Amino acid sequence: MKTIFEKSNNIDGIKFFDGNFSIDFIDNKFLRKSDIGLPSVTELDVLRHYKELSDRNFCIEKGFYPLGSCTMKYNPKVNEKLANLDGFVNLHPALEDEDVQGALELMYNLQEALKVVTGMDAVSLQPAAGAHGEFSGMMIVKKYFENKGELRKKVIIPDSAHGTNPASASMAGFDIVQVKSNEKGQIDINSLKEVLTEDVAAIMMTNPNTLGIFEENVLEISKLMHENGSLLYYDGANFNAIMGYTNPKLMGFDIVHINLHKTFATPHGGGGPGAGPIAVVDCLKDYLPTPVVINDGNMYRRNYNLVNSIGAVKNYFGNFGVLIRAYAYILMQGKSLKQVSSDAVLNANYIKEQLKNVYKLPYDVPCMHEFVLSGDLQKEKGVSTLNIAKRLMDSGVHPPTIYFPLIVHEAMMIEPTETEAKNVLDGFINIMLEIAKEVDENPDKVLSAPCSTIVKKIDETLAARKPDLNYRMEV
Ligand SMILES: *Cc1c(COP(=O)(O)O)cnc(C)c1O
Repeated sequence: MKTIFEKSNNIDGIKFFDGNFSIDFIDNKFLRKSDIGLPSVTELDVLRHYKELSDRNFCIEKGFYPLGSCTMKYNPKVNEKLANLDGFVNLHPALEDEDVQGALELMYNLQEALKVVTGMDAVSLQPAAGAHGEFSGMMIVKKYFENKGELRKKVIIPDSAHGTNPASASMAGFDIVQVKSNEKGQIDINSLKEVLTEDVAAIMMTNPNTLGIFEENVLEISKLMHENGSLLYYDGANFNAIMGYTNPKLMGFDIVHINLHKTFATPHGGGGPGAGPIAVVDCLKDYLPTPVVINDGNMYRRNYNLVNSIGAVKNYFGNFGVLIRAYAYILMQGKSLKQVSSDAVLNANYIKEQLKNVYKLPYDVPCMHEFVLSGDLQKEKGVSTLNIAKRLMDSGVHPPTIYFPLIVHEAMMIEPTETEAKNVLDGFINIMLEIAKEVDENPDKVLSAPCSTIVKKIDETLAARKPDLNYRMEV
């Protein structure tokens, strides 16, 4: 044995780097004189730390994520692979058109595909998110009426709208006029007529709206608006419900944004990056933000010369990586793009029908890709929608969107998306029914939730008023 060790106790045979490299090309005065003082932790400790943190995250790959209005669908991994191709990631956006024909072709084809699904006549891929598309659209509305020499200051927005709608219109300088929803959860035509004065520039609508209900009177609304000389803006956040079945052009809209990160599959749980291309009817195509990509018969080019353009709203082209993912998703779906919508609608109705006898369903109509329940019945027993949402976390489910839209008390807005299988939907339904039973039999359990998460129930007010940013979670 001894001899074996003695003989092998020698690694001199390996050629090691001796650790002395010359830094004589850097002037001595620029060299650090003392140790840098980095924390001394092992590489493995660092890895474990970050892995620990990432395990605490919730994502679509971990569990059901029915966050209404957000379309948290599964984002196919092939999108990531394609968006990470060397030819895409190593491009510099300032390269000449000749040198980026592939990237321009992709953007051109995506513009064309979005023209088909929206029915519109021209597209700009520039805006970086839905809200950004809304703002760009409102700037177009503003410039359009300025050019016509008409002073129109008002934008009509339904009371069920997403908060970004009034925010975008207001940022563009418009006054907001609210229009009420009727008992069917749709825009009330008489209320609309009352506020439709000649200084109204536009209406912003989401269809299906944020209650997940299709606005049946949309054609009457678009007729009224156009007769008044006003424009119609379509918030495309709920596009996942209608793809291939109808489109905003057929409904009479003039400007549309599409949230590519929602409908066309880019991960967006943490807030971005996203993409909110806008599409317009023919008479507004010169107003789009530039550049737009054209094909001059010879090659693909960036066109900066739109006479009435509101200008650039983002540097270069917008979020190119998201555009690649969206294009990949569209090509991958092929003709099943239509089935995405029918499956999303089927899944939402399936859950709705099985929960509506236990939770209040304020608008009991067939829904589109999402629906809104009210926690009123549970609230009467002392348990709020917030408590129910927290209790869901104990079962590993991401809570739905809550307390929105504002017109439903104790709202729970549930959007399962098309990518969830029946067993997942059944599992969620059972958890929701179980919680309703707990509210009756053992409300304290719901009131003290969550109890199985890393951070347990916190004092909401204290957390908002006096945030402890150094708080160390118990493991
Ligand atoms: C998500 C959403 C928006 C805003 O889109 P972002 O991409 O998050 O800026 C606008 N309206 C509705 C109805 C939405 O769901």
